This record gives sequence, C-alpha cells and structure tokens, in this order.
Amino acid sequence: MNIAIASDHGGFELKSVLANALAEGYKILDKGPSDKASCDYPDYAIAVAKSVASGEADFGILVCRSGIGMSMVANRFQNVRAAICATTDAATVTRQHNGANVLCLGADVVSPNYAVEIAKAFLTTPVDESERHARRRWKLERAERLSDCSGLMHDDPEVFAAIEAQTKQEDAEINLIASENTSSRACREAAGSVLMNKYAEGYPGKRWYSGCLPVDAAEELARKRACELFGAEHANVQPHCGSSANMAVYFATIDPGDTILSMSLDQGGHLSHGSPVNFSGKLYNIVPYTVDRGTERLDYDALERQALEVKPKILLAGASAYPRTIDFKRIREICDKAGCIMMVDMAHIAGLVAGGAHPSPVPYADFVTTTTHKTLGGPRGGMVLCKEKWAKALDSAVFPGMQGGPLENIIAAKAVCFREWMSPEKKGYAQQVVKNCQVLCKTVQDRGYRIVSGGTDNHLFLVDVKSTKGITGKEAAAALDAAGIVVNKNTIPYDTESPFRTSGIRVGTASVTTRGMKEGEMIKIGTWIADVLDNVADASVQERVKREAKELVSGFPVP
Ligand SMILES: *Cc1c(COP(=O)(O)O)cnc(C)c1O
Repeated sequence: MNIAIASDHGGFELKSVLANALAEGYKILDKGPSDKASCDYPDYAIAVAKSVASGEADFGILVCRSGIGMSMVANRFQNVRAAICATTDAATVTRQHNGANVLCLGADVVSPNYAVEIAKAFLTTPVDESERHARRRWKLERAERLSDCSGLMHDDPEVFAAIEAQTKQEDAEINLIASENTSSRACREAAGSVLMNKYAEGYPGKRWYSGCLPVDAAEELARKRACELFGAEHANVQPHCGSSANMAVYFATIDPGDTILSMSLDQGGHLSHGSPVNFSGKLYNIVPYTVDRGTERLDYDALERQALEVKPKILLAGASAYPRTIDFKRIREICDKAGCIMMVDMAHIAGLVAGGAHPSPVPYADFVTTTTHKTLGGPRGGMVLCKEKWAKALDSAVFPGMQGGPLENIIAAKAVCFREWMSPEKKGYAQQVVKNCQVLCKTVQDRGYRIVSGGTDNHLFLVDVKSTKGITGKEAAAALDAAGIVVNKNTIPYDTESPFRTSGIRVGTASVTTRGMKEGEMIKIGTWIADVLDNVADASVQERVKREAKELVSGFPVP
C-alpha cells in the first residue's frame, strides 16, 4: 500500500518520525520538503492531494503545526477527504464514517509517539460500507454537483443561478428526451478546463500557432480513441456539433447543386439532411426518401429503386426519430449499385453502436457522422469518421473549409467520453438503454397507445397520440411536462398535423438509464405516461404523477 507523505517546515520532524515508523509495511512516497527551511504548506498539500486523487497513493499524511492549513488545501480536491485527527478514536471514526483518505496531524498538538499510533489506527481501519454511511459519503463528494462551478457563486451569481436551476431540474425530472443524456463529471471537468484558452487552428503536429503541445496531446487522444472505439480508419473530432459534422462531409465530397438522397425530416430525418430552411437544403438538390406507409419502416427495395433512378452523389442514412435498426450492409449494396457515396449520420445511435447494441455502420460507410452528446453521453459536439482515402479531403473541409480554431476543451471531453465507453459496464449500459426502451414502449402500448412501426429496436419510440386519443403531440408533451416527465412532440410518418402541433411524441431512455433505472422503473414510468395521456386535461392526475415521479427519481441521482 502506498502512502504519500509531506509536511511544511513546522511538521518536518514529525514527518520524518512517521515515515520511519511506517516504512515497515507501507511504501512511503515522500513528497517533501527535504529540509527544515521555511516553505509554503499549500505546495506540499497539493503534491499529496494529487497523489491520492490520481490513485498513485492509497493514503496521504500531511503534517504542519496544527494540521489545519494542510487539510484545507487537500480538501479542495475531488475524491480527497482529509481529516485532522488529535486522537486515535477520531482517526478510527473518520475512516469508518467519512472514508477519510488523508490524515492531517499537528506537530504542536500530538506527541511523536502518539502521532504514530493515530496513523496506525487510521491506516488499519476499514471504511464502513453500510448504506447510511455510503449515502452520506456520496453526498459529500457530489456536493449537489455545485462544486464543479462553486467559484461562480461569488463571481457571477446570475449565471450561477442558471446553472443551479438546470442542476435542480435534472435532479427532479424524468428526462425522456431521446436526443439528451447526462454527462459524467469527468466530461464536465474536461469541458470546463483551461484547454479552452488555446488557439489551435490546424491539426496535431501541424498547427498555425505555437504552444500547442498540450492540446495536441488531448486531440490525438480523442482521435485515437474514436478510431479504436468505432474501428474507424480516420477520425476528425473538431466539428462543433452534429450539423457541422454533416456540413464537413458535404463540403469534402460534393458541389453545390449536387444531389443528396436523404430521409425526409417529417419522417424522422434531420434538419441538416436537407431541410429547405437549413444550409443543406439551400445548397444542395435534396431528394427525400420515406418509410413504408404500412410498416412505417424503411423499405430497402424501394430505396434501391429510388437511388438508381435519382443517381444521387450521396445516399445519407440515419435519423433523429427512427425506432428501428438500420441495415447498413443493405445500404452499402444500394450505394454500390447506384455508384454513390455512403454517408451515415449515427448521431442518435452512436452510443448503441459503441456498446454493440446496434450494428455499426463504420465497416460499410465512406463517412459516419455523429454527435457526442446523445446516446454517447459525452460533451455537446460532433465528429466525423471516414475511410483513410477521404481523410485529407475531410480534414481540409473542416479546417480551413468551415471552422476556425477547434474547441480543444470539448475535444478533450470527447476523449474522456470515448475512454468511458471502453469499459465493460458502459457496454452493458447500451444494452440496458434498449431493454429499458422496449419495456417502456410495451407498457405504453399495452395501455392502448399506437406505437409507430409497432415497437422499437433502439433507444427511442414514437407514440401516435393523435390516432389513439385525438390529442396533439404538443398537448401530450405539455401535460407530461406538468407531471414531471419530459418528452418532445414529434411528427410521425405521414403526419397530418403541422410540425408545431404534431401527432406524436418521441420518448427515449438514454438519460434515465444513465441514472441507473431498469425495467421495473420503466413499467412505473410507462404507467404514469398512460395515466397522464388518458386524462390530459386532469391536473390532479398530473399532480399525483409529479409527486410519485419525484419520489422515484430521488433514488436515482444524476451523476
Ligand atoms: C441531433 C442530430 C444532429 C445534429 O446535432 P446538432 O449537434 O444539434 O447540430 C444531426 N443529425 C442527426 C440525425 C441528429 O439527430
């Protein structure tokens, strides 16, 4: 077991006594100082806190005259819990209850012999893992998620208030918005980091500015991990969002006026796939494809006929509201026959692909674009994966083609997100998202609601509230919102309502699964959804569901 130890000049002698006494049985990492000359205690407390926070050391010991200054510094670090102990009892209790991992001792407070006894008590007492102590330690570390930005409380209380309100809202609601998720603290730390200070036009190793070694390292990690995670030949992690990732592919491959065959927006496509109000619809000749009227699923034979007739430059697969598995192998065949570029926008399903819960488009497609914040659960941003032969064209389309300096802080957070996906638990998460979605969907369906295409294979489903209850998606979403359940109104294939009213709602399970909810909770939530939609005008139902939902979410804290 490793113990990082340090002191200031006032604690130097006691530190030497402790290091000698503990050398038998522990590996001592002496973080200084090496003599009694006057020094600044924060420098040494930081060294020990870093060692413990990073996992280099299992425990830390810090000595100054009182132990107080040392503990103040160490406790500013996430996952460091520093305790000043003047008795062996205090050392035992703080280990058991608080899970303290740094012992702070006052050279003026305890004798050297007793200090050694305290240290031994501290190092040999196990943490009490019972529920109530675990819960309190968790609250301590989480600090209501406000410690991420606690400096703002003083520096800009108005902006802080907005962040606090979002934090509380996330805690209190059941978020079923299919395009949202909740990022990890590690992602948020990278996204809020000093990497945002750096201008880095260009790519790692070939920048237009000096001083890019640190951001080069971060971007290289993001590129490498993206390729490893998805089995891609090349990754560009600079696009600021999913729409700009798509723009980059168009710019890299075709000219204004060229034809793109893409899924129509009102059937589940995306704005950046050619909506007339979007740059994509303004610059390119967009031909939309649709789902089959009867099955509400893609009809690959019809798509093949259309591709052969239209002869697009790009066939774009992928959607924002398609609840079924997409057959990428079949789409590759169509592209080969039609002689066009195969582009897949996996923004919604990227996490399912990363976790093996949806077949990957990467082996088939020339380009795969994605966002990093939907099922992937990372920072808000975009990315393009492509075959090596397109790498150069893609990179110059992003920069200098359409963007200036990349957001290196966000790129670092993307790297963090990709690494999280390499763990087996995260792969299990992707499977759970789909299981949860199927149970939630079935619960609503069993209450008589028509589900578009009859069910779901992925993280989302669409409820046709119009044909089931004669209400619009807008009304349904508002009633659910009043009950603490957040979804969005959504058009369904061949919708007769306007996009502002819609006949459907879209429901997704990425965020609730991130909170740890499973099938049992999905049955409860599905029942509440049906209760509210059965009685959209009944405020008392909304009140009751809101109460019960609040109770449920309190057991599933946001990370
Ligand atoms: C969400 C989404 C995007 C765009 O994402 P932004 O980051 O909001 O630009 C692109 N394509 C699809 C299919 C999406 O669902």
